[in-house]
This record gives sequence, C-alpha cells and structure tokens, in this order.
Amino acid sequence: MSLAPALAEGLVARLGPRGALFGPEVPEAARSDWSRTGRHLPPALLRPASTEEVAAALALCHRHRQPVVVQGGMTGLAGGANPCGNEVALSLARLAGVEEIDADAGAMVVRAGTVLAVAQEEARAAGFLLPVDLGARGSAQVGGLVATNAGGLRVIRHGTMRDNLLGLEAVLADGRVLSHLSRTVKDNTGYDLRHLICGSEGTLAVITRAVIRLRPLPPPGDTALCALASFEAVLALLGEARRRATVAAYEVMWRDYLALNQELLGRRPFPDPPPFAVLIETEGPGLAELLGDAHERGILLDALVARSTAEARGFWELREGLAMDDALPGLVNLDVALAPGRMAAFAEACAAGVRGLHPGAHVSFYGHVGDGNLHVAAAIPGGGPDAVHAVERIAYDLVRDLGGSISAEHGIGLLKRDWLGHSRSPGEIAAMRALKAALDPLGLLNPGKVLPRAAG
Ligand SMILES: Cc1cc2nc3c(=O)[nH]c(=O)nc-3n(C[C@H](O)[C@H](O)[C@H](O)COP(=O)(O)OP(=O)(O)OC[C@H]3O[C@@H](n4cnc5c(N)ncnc54)[C@H](O)[C@@H]3O)c2cc1C
Repeated sequence: MSLAPALAEGLVARLGPRGALFGPEVPEAARSDWSRTGRHLPPALLRPASTEEVAAALALCHRHRQPVVVQGGMTGLAGGANPCGNEVALSLARLAGVEEIDADAGAMVVRAGTVLAVAQEEARAAGFLLPVDLGARGSAQVGGLVATNAGGLRVIRHGTMRDNLLGLEAVLADGRVLSHLSRTVKDNTGYDLRHLICGSEGTLAVITRAVIRLRPLPPPGDTALCALASFEAVLALLGEARRRATVAAYEVMWRDYLALNQELLGRRPFPDPPPFAVLIETEGPGLAELLGDAHERGILLDALVARSTAEARGFWELREGLAMDDALPGLVNLDVALAPGRMAAFAEACAAGVRGLHPGAHVSFYGHVGDGNLHVAAAIPGGGPDAVHAVERIAYDLVRDLGGSISAEHGIGLLKRDWLGHSRSPGEIAAMRALKAALDPLGLLNPGKVLPRAAG
C-alpha cells in the first residue's frame, strides 16, 4: 500500500529526506512493539525533529484523511504502536533531548523522544532522581511513558507517570499545538488536558514535550529478598514496612515464578523456594532491624539482605524474569490490578482455571503488590491464539468479579481493546468515545486502539 503522491511529496518537502521514509526504506522495527504481535509494515515512517514538524506532518495527513499510528520506543506490551493496515507511522525518535533542568522548581523539560535512561542519567548528574523507572528504561521514551501512564518499579514511593507530570505539550490530529509546559505542582486552571492525554495511548494527541517532576536523590538504602509462608504474611510485612521505613519497592513472587527464574538464571538464593518471596527496597537505614523484628514475630521465614549492588541487582533479575521470554515460547503476560486483599484468591482461582483447561500449562504470579498490581505469566505448550484467549477470559472474568482492572499499567492498546468493558461501564466507554470524537473527529490518530469496536 502506498501513499497519495501529493501527500508523500508534501511530507518530504516539510520533513526533509531523513524525516520521511517510504516503502523499502521503512525499517522492520516499525512493524511491532515488544508484544511481537504487529503484522503490518507501515507504508511510510515519519520522523519529525521538532514540534513544528510534528504539527506540519499531522496537518498534512489530516488534509489527506491519512491515518497515523504513533511510535515511541516500541517497548509497549499492548500492541498500541502497531500499524493495523494503512496508517503511516510517526516516530518521535528524532525529537529527543533534555531541554532544561529547573533546580528551583525540581522539574525537567524534556522532548518526547528522549529515552528514559538518558533522562534519568541527566537528572542524576544534576543531583536529582527522575522517579519513574522500569525494566524497559534503555528503549522506552518519555512520550511513550506519558502516553501509557507508565508505572514501574517505584510507584509505591513516587506514583505513576501521571503523578510526576507537571506540564505537557501535544499536537492534535489536525496539527493544532496544545502547549502547557507548567512547572508548578499546583495548577487548577480548568479541565486538565494533561491528565486526559496522559494514558490516552496516542489516540487523542501526539505528545511532543513534557515537564517531569524531579525528587532529591534518595539516601542510600538496602535491598532484601525475603521468604514468607503465606500471602497474609506478605501483607503483614508490607504494613510493617510502610509504618517503619521509606519503602521504595515491594515486589512479590509466588513460588512457581521464583522457582522457574532461579532455575533459568542458575542462582538459588532460596534452594527450597518458599510459597512467597518479597523483594523489598528501602531508602535510608533500618531494613535489617525491621526484618529481624518481623522474623521474631513469625512474619518472615528467612531474609537475605544484599551485601553489594551486584547482589541487589541479582535479586532484581530474579524478579524481572526476562529469561522466561526465551524459555517459554508464547508466554502470555497479563497485567491486572486488584485490591491486595483479593490477590491470593485471584491467583488461586486463576491457576486452577488455567490448569483445568491445560494441565501442562505454566501459570505463575508476581507483581508490584504494594500498588495493587499483579502480573500473570502463562504459557500453554503448543497453544495458539485460542489458548491465549481462554487464559485471558479466565483471568479477566475473575478480575471483573473481584472489582479489579484488566490493565494496571501496560494500557489497553489493541490487545485488550475488546476486554475494556470488563473494567469500564457502557457509560464510561460512551464518554471516552465522545472525547475521541471531539479531539479527533476524523478518527485518524491510532485508529482501532483502546476503544472497542462499536456494536453493529
Ligand atoms: C522489559 C519491559 C519491562 C516493562 N516494565 C514496565 C513497567 O514496569 N511498568 C509499565 O507501566 N510498563 C512497563 N513496560 C511497558 C512499556 O515499557 C511501557 O508501556 C512504556 O511506557 C512504553 O513506552 P514506549 O516509548 O516504548 O512506547 P511505545 O511502545 O512506542 O508506544 C506505547 C503507546 O504509546 C503511544 N505513544 C508512544 N509515544 C507517543 C507520543 N509521543 N505521543 C502519543 N502517543 C505515543 C503509542 O501509540 C502506543 O499506543 C515494560 C516493557 C518491557 C519490554
């Protein structure tokens, strides 16, 4: 599929030959995000290098009724950046760089295409912490993090991307620029378009710049891996830790998840994996005392406090579980939210449901339990799309019945679009459609994403 010649000519004239690639010039990476579910290469890849170029490209596409899919670092797990047919892809990769660190305001003005690790490093060099962090930090872009309202590893301490977003600049489908690069925490001036666009997954506007709140660099703390006998103990330790320490991360692994990752990494901090393992990280001193007291009170079976950064990193590698992708072909990774008190019941029923259908399946659970976020890792030997759908149905029906959310942090994109009704009411979905129609009446931005297909 190729573009209208007048549109292609206009794009080259406005963006230059480096800014608009066509047909065979389009790299394979534009086909799919990290979910590896993308099937179509876009007919063109636009690479604007400024807000003005983004606006010009969108205005041209609008004039030609040309749909556009927005692409950041392509680490998304919901298919949101995948082209579905005839969209041109618009990549923010050339709109990169930190523009300013305002030390008085504790704020960073950053372009959307800046890779998270680069922004984090610049913040650190200036004596600040950029509080959002996740495993995909080496590729995910600031614009993608805002577009998905990313969570990650420090939410328990500093919140999600939305909680750290002071200002935003974005371009609407017709090329109009909305710029509100506020640097203040307090700003009650009408409808908050920043929070509307944050989490909209490229369906309402293209994010071009953001102002992110920075925090002081935390004091050195400790990391420990703890063994616990029950989920009640997991919650008891969380409560204790919150009362007595500054908790920077609280990650839980169910036994099957820990056992598999210990085996894959060839490292066995717990030779006999306990029912639950908690990775806890604190800022400042006191973790060892806290764990000692918890052990005395019978909350903990055992705890290993990391003696070096390398040992702490080793604990994190167990939790990140990246080796599972290669070891379990077709691994499904669901990302749900539930009240912590309902997680154990969910995991038990979900595992029983999946194993009831496929006795040879791997099903395990892990997650940012302090944030109410649980991941389901499932692999059905020889399973195809029908098997994936069956796992999703088991998990999402349970989530709906337990009053949770089908997406804690990865977003809806394409892969969860048809399940949105499990977490949002018909009235809410109708209001979302009305917002989409108001900001993008021709439906050109990321068509087919987030909102379920209208009935009939
Ligand atoms: C190893 C690994 C670990 C991860 N861990 C976490 C985690 O802990 N927490 C978490 O929340 N996510 C996590 N993710 C998911 C992913 O990293 C995040 O969703 C991230 O925010 C996506 O950023 P990106 O730049 O790669 O966006 P992409 O994948 O390119 O795009 C994601 C969505 O945002 C839209 N988009 C991208 N850029 C823009 C823009 N400038 N303007 C408008 N829309 C845009 C796209 O159209 C798409 O819908 C993880 C992914 C991997 C691979």
